[in-house]
Amino acid sequence: ENTKELRPIKKLQDAVINRIAAGEIIHRPANAIKELIENSLDAGATNIRILVKEGGLKLLQIQDNGHGIRREDMDIVCERFTTSKLKSFNDLSNINTYGFRGEALASISHVAHVTITTKTADSKCAYRACYSDGKLVPPKPGTSAEPKACAGNTGTQITAEDLFYNVPTRKQALKHPNDEYNRILDIVNRYAIHNSGVGFSCKKQGSKQPDVNSLSTASTLDNIRQIYGSTASELLNLEKVSRKFDFKFNGYISNANFNLRKMTFLLFINHRAVESSALKRTIEGVYETYLPKNSYPFVYLSLEINPQNVDVNIHPTKREVRFLNEDEVIAIIGDAIQERLVGANCSRIYLTQT
Ligand code: ADP
Ligand code: MG
Repeated sequence: ENTKELRPIKKLQDAVINRIAAGEIIHRPANAIKELIENSLDAGATNIRILVKEGGLKLLQIQDNGHGIRREDMDIVCERFTTSKLKSFNDLSNINTYGFRGEALASISHVAHVTITTKTADSKCAYRACYSDGKLVPPKPGTSAEPKACAGNTGTQITAEDLFYNVPTRKQALKHPNDEYNRILDIVNRYAIHNSGVGFSCKKQGSKQPDVNSLSTASTLDNIRQIYGSTASELLNLEKVSRKFDFKFNGYISNANFNLRKMTFLLFINHRAVESSALKRTIEGVYETYLPKNSYPFVYLSLEINPQNVDVNIHPTKREVRFLNEDEVIAIIGDAIQERLVGANCSRIYLTQT
């Protein structure tokens, strides 16, 4: 006999809907920091400082020198589907910002306490406001929720505190702050390497030395050297254009003298840090003939594909993208790496000269 009773269908409350949706975008502190970094880059920042406490579960703070948020936008900035980047559905095929759905800040505000301090260039002062569940909330009980004027430089500081305070099961699953911090560092490292022209720093609260500290004047290669140390002296550069499939790519790959126990694969498609297991497998296959068994390369690849051929909207975290002619594109990259490794003996980059 069926013991499950038949119940009426009811619409979920907005707060429940939003918290579930938030969980699809923000699984852990590293997802939040990725969204926040992308917002800073979208705002044209050249300097991004990150501060982390307890692996980001207690505190995630990001300070940028981007264009800021206007006072009149502060009321709705954390509401779901509010964005300054996308106006019509057709814009999606021509998107040149990281964000477009207006979901990140909303999501974070549904699972953490958010404070935004921001100033635009033409405003006399900065404004600070606190948010919960997408809405302005008073910083202290009994005070006003309205954004409050304060001192500050042009740019934005966003603080997310007590991440997952209202999602105990999620919090339970994230028991190792060091592990979470390393995931945050991995994201910051990737963006630091890919964004020469932007200075990044990341540190734990209370520690004197930042764990990432890249200069806005450093090149991609400088950044790789700074972050991955000795790796950089065994790198080959790679560059290719395919008119047929309307894409180009460049990057740095390690040569046959170098290997790691696990592949370091920094992949960017149209400047977005993404993952592609198919491309990864192909690259591992190419290196198999050059490296000892169970050892792997360092690969940084920046792929630029005609935006019309890329769908970035297939995954809530935008971690995966789909693009046209995927098999052909992957094969071309594999061949280019193969060619570069074959011809590498005399053409490796000697960093001592730079
Ligand atoms: P999206 O990036 O998809 O637009 P978000 O929720 O990430 O959605 O951000 C909402 C809006 O808040 C953005 O469109 C932007 O106008 C503003 N914003 C967020 N972070 C920043 C920032 N660091 N500097 C300036 N504006 C920001
Ligand atoms: Mg965004």
